[in-house]
Amino acid sequence: MIRYSCQEITETDIAEVEKVLRSDYLTQGPIVPKFEQSVANYCGAAHAFAVNSATSALHVACLALELGQGDWLWTSPNTFVASANCGRYCGASIDFVDIDPKTYNMSADALSEKLIEAKKVGKLPKIVVPVHFAGQPCDMPAIHDLSKHYGFKIIEDASHAIGATYNQIKVGSCIHSDITVFSFHPIKIITTAEGGMALTNDKNIAAKLSRLRTHGIISDKTKMEERPKDEIWNYQQIDLGFNYRMNDIQAALGLNQLKRLDEYVKHRQEIAKFYNNALKNLPLVTPWCSPSNYSSYHLYTILIKENLTQKTQRQVYDELIKNDIGVNLHYIPVHRQPYYENLGFKKNDFPQAEKFHREVLSIPIHPSLKEIQQLQVVETFKKILVK
Ligand SMILES: *Cc1c(COP(=O)(O)O)cnc(C)c1O
Repeated sequence: MIRYSCQEITETDIAEVEKVLRSDYLTQGPIVPKFEQSVANYCGAAHAFAVNSATSALHVACLALELGQGDWLWTSPNTFVASANCGRYCGASIDFVDIDPKTYNMSADALSEKLIEAKKVGKLPKIVVPVHFAGQPCDMPAIHDLSKHYGFKIIEDASHAIGATYNQIKVGSCIHSDITVFSFHPIKIITTAEGGMALTNDKNIAAKLSRLRTHGIISDKTKMEERPKDEIWNYQQIDLGFNYRMNDIQAALGLNQLKRLDEYVKHRQEIAKFYNNALKNLPLVTPWCSPSNYSSYHLYTILIKENLTQKTQRQVYDELIKNDIGVNLHYIPVHRQPYYENLGFKKNDFPQAEKFHREVLSIPIHPSLKEIQQLQVVETFKKILVK
């Protein structure tokens, strides 16, 4: 089976992890801050905080922006459930903004229209979470302009998009957002096994992110509340945080993987170009990338459309698997999940995302995908779709 996505672990990755295992610190040693600094430098952000998953990063990001009960968080329906769940963890209400059928990202036009309506009824969002689907950045300048006009905060869910750029700006620079979140799950662009990161340029948000991931505890004496001088106070808990820390074993893997990030994204770009070209005469739709974007191609998605082929999405999915081609589906629209339907969402609430769900398939793309395997994917499509 050719997997649709998979990590690449090299001998130097293993050696770096082994070094930590043989060192004095497994958890809070020197490697986590080194990894954070390296990612911050790579993206051009002022602060970066490593955590144990992107889900945790999204949660502390919402808390740092003071999301709570009575507030609204809006995101794309075409995402993993974590982009919405983070708002629910804080007791906020969730709503969605339908996608642009060309980029599959949250549509900035739909966002603008929804904001006009929300303003009329006094239900403006406190936070909007754009998701850079498949690694293609959202229209951040437009979303940022809207945030200034309507006064909401922005958390970029860049779980797919480390290494991507828009208008030559690195995703993660936080130039058009308050916080950017990355995931280092093995299927993402670089991995720490489980892991995530939250980046920001704001000093106050940074201080909150830093303590929320570690129980709400600070150990900087200058920031602690005054206590009697004869008592020992080497740390203070000043708000309710969590144990969301990344450990040095994970960070060593991430730090070494980061060295190959640009190479990985370049390779994914090459695979995408190969597919674009090799699949273009087949009855399917290949993904469109804006010329101002450089996608990290976390996913390569094709659309199976009724007006192009007799085969259904389901049939193509099954036949790919029968031919040992790993295939997946991103995404079932979040609002169609039973949990969200129980909150009141229903079918046809976000028709573009739902149409996309009925047509999309993710086909293999990852750094260890060999040319012969890419050819095999294309040959299989020819066999399935051309009669
Ligand atoms: C993978 C993913 C997440 C969650 O990442 P974890 O690190 O597994 O918590 C969140 N949002 C999106 C869009 C993702 O793809």
